[in-house]
Amino acid sequence: MEKWSKVNPGGETKEAFDKGEIVGDDGVALTAAALQQKFEAMRNSKNAQNKAETVAKSIEEIQFIGLMQMAIAKEREELGLPAGYHIPLERVRFFHPEVWNSDNKERGGARSSESTAGEYDPSWDLVDTRLGTDARRPFQHFSILDHELLHQASHFETDPVGKRLTHKSGFHTADKQGFGLNEAVTETLNQELLKKHEQALLKYFPNTESSYDAWFGIQSGTYSLYRDVLSSVIKQVDMKLHAGKAKTWQDLKRGYLEGDSMALQSLEEVLGKQAFRLFMAMGSEEKFDVEQYQKKYNFPTAKGAFHALEIQIERYFTNNLKLSEERLQKLLDDVSVYIKDVEKETIAPINGNSK
Ligand SMILES: [Zn+2]
Repeated sequence: MEKWSKVNPGGETKEAFDKGEIVGDDGVALTAAALQQKFEAMRNSKNAQNKAETVAKSIEEIQFIGLMQMAIAKEREELGLPAGYHIPLERVRFFHPEVWNSDNKERGGARSSESTAGEYDPSWDLVDTRLGTDARRPFQHFSILDHELLHQASHFETDPVGKRLTHKSGFHTADKQGFGLNEAVTETLNQELLKKHEQALLKYFPNTESSYDAWFGIQSGTYSLYRDVLSSVIKQVDMKLHAGKAKTWQDLKRGYLEGDSMALQSLEEVLGKQAFRLFMAMGSEEKFDVEQYQKKYNFPTAKGAFHALEIQIERYFTNNLKLSEERLQKLLDDVSVYIKDVEKETIAPINGNSK
């Protein structure tokens, strides 16, 4: 199984680069050193440019980042993966809400939406989060930061097959496949890590929140629709391929943190080609003919239409074990007609933030 690699200074990628040529945007082969230099210069200049806008990290924040680094390292160890990527502290930044909410292009790119409280920007390898008004609670404010740290830890930049410089965020690829899956894995793993290390978090951040359940008991966290779909798919794969043993989630985490897509083959095998295609298209509006769906059902906005379409798709996946074959196939056919192909970005796309 070919694995993707990271381009990080002094990181695990160097070896992969030393083995073969990697082609840059202009089609000219770059050496490992040249490529790392290019990325580093780019990132450092961006970082310096924005220094005035960022808020210095508190001891608590530094402690939290350190704790979650340990949590990710421990997770890798338990999954049988080699020691992984170290998140440099200077690549994690905090912003005052006024700066965050202003139309500040200097912040490192346009925000996807007002409500977004954190973002990982792969071009600059930066995790940016908005400071919460009620300060730094481990399961509230910090859960957003930790979600972004996971995007950073699972971002890969070189495709071993094409030997090209391109991007992949976990399971989300340049051809816009797997956005929903990737967010579902990110947030599910995020909550799992916070729960697993609850005692340490409460020890270092006393008097802020009583427990993990106190926070996640009152709200579900981000991307609950995609997580519902994922959890249902995991159950189906475990049942059909592993005699009910919980193996699929472990495989997915391994693939997510290590840049391979082996786990996806099991998903495709169980779901079948048509449903798998739909599953991988979730989360990307560009992958669907939303206009047609909007017209057919008279939705006032495209956004509303897309949301409704995704709820229909969720129904298909989460009812998979309850409905008859015939009804399921009908549900699947009804939503599949709205999928369309998107042209693959082949040349170094240095864009596309993860929320
Ligand atoms: Zn995300």
